[in-house]
Amino acid sequence: MARLNSNYLKLKAGYLFPEINRRVKAFTDSNPDGAARLIRCGIGDVTEPLPDSVRKAMHAAVDEMGVRESFKGYGPEQGYEFLRQAIAENDYRARGIDIANDEIFVSDGSKCDCGNILDIFGHDNRVAVMDPVYPVYVDTNVMAGHTGEGDASGLYGGLVYLACTAENGFVPSVPQEKVDLVYLCYPNNPTGATATRAQLTAWVEYALANDAVVLFDAAYEAYIRDPEIPHSIYEIPGARKCAIEFRSFSKNGGFTGVRCAFTVVPKDLECSTGSGDRRPLHPLWNRRFSTKFNGVGYVTQRAAEALYSGEGRAQVSALIRHYMGNAEILVAAAKDCGLATFGGTNAPYIWVRGPEGLTSWEIFDTVLNKANVVVTPGSGFGPAGEGYFRISSFNSRKNVEEVAARLRALEW
Ligand SMILES: *Cc1c(COP(=O)(O)O)cnc(C)c1O
Repeated sequence: MARLNSNYLKLKAGYLFPEINRRVKAFTDSNPDGAARLIRCGIGDVTEPLPDSVRKAMHAAVDEMGVRESFKGYGPEQGYEFLRQAIAENDYRARGIDIANDEIFVSDGSKCDCGNILDIFGHDNRVAVMDPVYPVYVDTNVMAGHTGEGDASGLYGGLVYLACTAENGFVPSVPQEKVDLVYLCYPNNPTGATATRAQLTAWVEYALANDAVVLFDAAYEAYIRDPEIPHSIYEIPGARKCAIEFRSFSKNGGFTGVRCAFTVVPKDLECSTGSGDRRPLHPLWNRRFSTKFNGVGYVTQRAAEALYSGEGRAQVSALIRHYMGNAEILVAAAKDCGLATFGGTNAPYIWVRGPEGLTSWEIFDTVLNKANVVVTPGSGFGPAGEGYFRISSFNSRKNVEEVAARLRALEW
């Protein structure tokens, strides 16, 4: 009989969002008035429509595809030169960061890249993740067989969990022990925290000293407003030798439904072959791309390119201003409730510590039943999130103002 990959059976069955949906459905089925008032602030998906410059570029690209002379079939697996150039130039070289066009790999999403990257690493690495954590990093390691079984709180044997707490500003210090791969995500989902230059420098120095690789998820880079906070791990000296960076057009350009992202793999980044040799990772990732991927659609890549035009940048800024305006309103409301509130200043997520003694799911139920608002329970991202909840600022202004008013009126 054919054997399945039994690592999948260790997965905790995507517990968080199905459980949220189950509770919301139970509430709306039994409470039609509440159902009509329901506002969702739980999901990490953008709400505002695609920028005009993007739609124009897509229409033009579709027309090119309709003409024999400009029709495009398979493109380069790693991305068209026009987009790799726009990314490397605008996101990196214009900021004084040394990244070559062919170190950029254009993909259909950072979620995919964060999972696929494990293809080019061995199976005997010690892997560290943050707690609370974006579940993709953990689940893809479970699938690849890098962990033991999960326990009741959702922690897997074999992984090193780095607790992110109010005490450490939700940025873990480097561990005493040696790890080989570490996932860092800043600005962070779910805590909305950012990492300072000094904190990122400590991680880069740790990685260089331990021959470790930092997998840096910068999906929310566009939300950084504080000029002191690095936008890229490569702003830190030495990072070209120890870090891979994931970026996405999902949260800046509103591309969650269009699908385009990229990974940066510097040519200086080397890993051990297991027999003492060091070899660069770039050719492996390049080979993986050409073997298992056939590139992002031409129309989509032209859409992404448009985000770097003058008009595109102005429209992205307007989107970010909209969401961050929402964040300000939500932060103020959470503070008015007397709750300790984090994030929301350089990230679209607000991380709130609930009233003393309530679990994250108790908070979730209270906010759902009394305010008819869906938030995300912090414990769903890991045990260190217990007692917290996440509010997303991805919403219309009208909804956010209503949510703020209901939170202020809420009697816990
Ligand atoms: C939204 C998000 C991404 C982007 O994923 P895509 O697949 O590019 O849409 C990556 N990382 C984190 C932590 C996110 O929240």
